[in-house]
Amino acid sequence: MATNQGPAELNWPFFNASHRDFKRLLDSWCQRHLITATHDESRSAVDAECVRLVALLGNGGWLAHAVAGQAHGAAAEQIETRNLCLLRETLAYHNGLSDFAFAMQGLGAGAISLHGTPEQKARYLPSVIQGKALAAFALSEPQAGSDVAAMQCRAQSTPEGYLLEGHKTWISNGGIAHFYVVFARTDEAPGAKGISAFVVSADSPGLVIEERIDVVAPHPLATLRFDKVAVTAAQRIGTAGEGFKVAMTTLDVFRTSVAAAALGFARRALHEALSWARSRQMFGQSLGDFQITQAKLAQMATLLDASTLLTYRAAWLRDQGERITREAAMAKMAATENAQQIIDMAVQMHGGMGVKKGSVVESLYREIRALRIYEGATEVQQLIIGKDLLHG
Ligand SMILES: Cc1cc2nc3c(=O)[nH]c(=O)nc-3n(C[C@H](O)[C@H](O)[C@H](O)COP(=O)(O)OP(=O)(O)OC[C@H]3O[C@@H](n4cnc5c(N)ncnc54)[C@H](O)[C@@H]3O)c2cc1C
Repeated sequence: MATNQGPAELNWPFFNASHRDFKRLLDSWCQRHLITATHDESRSAVDAECVRLVALLGNGGWLAHAVAGQAHGAAAEQIETRNLCLLRETLAYHNGLSDFAFAMQGLGAGAISLHGTPEQKARYLPSVIQGKALAAFALSEPQAGSDVAAMQCRAQSTPEGYLLEGHKTWISNGGIAHFYVVFARTDEAPGAKGISAFVVSADSPGLVIEERIDVVAPHPLATLRFDKVAVTAAQRIGTAGEGFKVAMTTLDVFRTSVAAAALGFARRALHEALSWARSRQMFGQSLGDFQITQAKLAQMATLLDASTLLTYRAAWLRDQGERITREAAMAKMAATENAQQIIDMAVQMHGGMGVKKGSVVESLYREIRALRIYEGATEVQQLIIGKDLLHG
């Protein structure tokens, strides 16, 4: 079985001995428990595999690093960004769906661990960490993706609490989640200042899975409809009208980790390309004996190192307590864009085998694509970086 990060990266100054031990343990666990072999990509099989992987990650203790709050079973009071990134990179390297399952537990529970009441934390966080409850983060709508503040889903105030009405779409874990963190308009003010966050149980009357969405690399994904779903004030996360802040602070924790997942996919592609270049014979020598191949491998490795440096710079800075708006955006943009190029070069080197369904590079080619779109498309990251450069 291939190993992931070599000793060279782990000796970079962003890491200390505890990260190196963590990475070794993690890699050996992944080699024992995760397989890269192609799985059945039918909707029911992918759903079942996600549920299995969440339980496996919970039993392995890894979900404790996706959630904050030691009183509830988390590894630390605040998520350690470098461990979070090492986890996502390593899981993505071995098995893309395991990275998805891991990331969604963190993103889905993030708002509760950052802004939840003690009761909300006690009710949800232990079961998320143990892999017994699947979490989801429901922010996007058909008319509000990049432009989050344009959301229309409404939480109408009632004497008992609120009635949720509207749609959410592209919701990962939609259809298999046990609860959703839902953002809805409460109209304290226009735009971003009139949104609140709620935790809503999947079995709430009026919450309907309107459509399951199939994408290039199958993950559980759905459009949700809220038909006057009754929620109490105790289900609101944070202050009324501060839901936009709740969403953005949650995404801030996880943005750098999307870059780390891209690193894992890209590093695997480079590993596959190197093995193929050594073994594939043509014109009386190996593919790797051609200088054009060596140039491609050099380009892939350089893009990968650049992404790795940007990703762990952002992770390290965050762990020092720094604000990392620009650095996280640079990491997310560069790592996902570079990974797409690296994987494409690996596919090209594999010839027909590169596009054969079930080959590792073919599945990486599909896995990487959505990362350039979700949690802020590349263009959104460009705007964040540009504005930060201009206005600080
Ligand atoms: C696989 C997958 C999983 C997802 N999971 C979740 C989830 O769990 N929860 C959730 O809430 N959402 C989720 N999403 C939704 C995701 O966050 C949105 O798709 C994303 O924010 C983009 O929104 P949109 O699709 O509406 O595209 P739009 O907002 O319509 O943007 C379309 C394109 O326009 C370009 N663009 C955007 N802004 C600008 C700009 N300012 N200037 C120039 N060009 C621009 C970008 O290229 C962008 O891709 C998921 C999406 C995918 C694909």
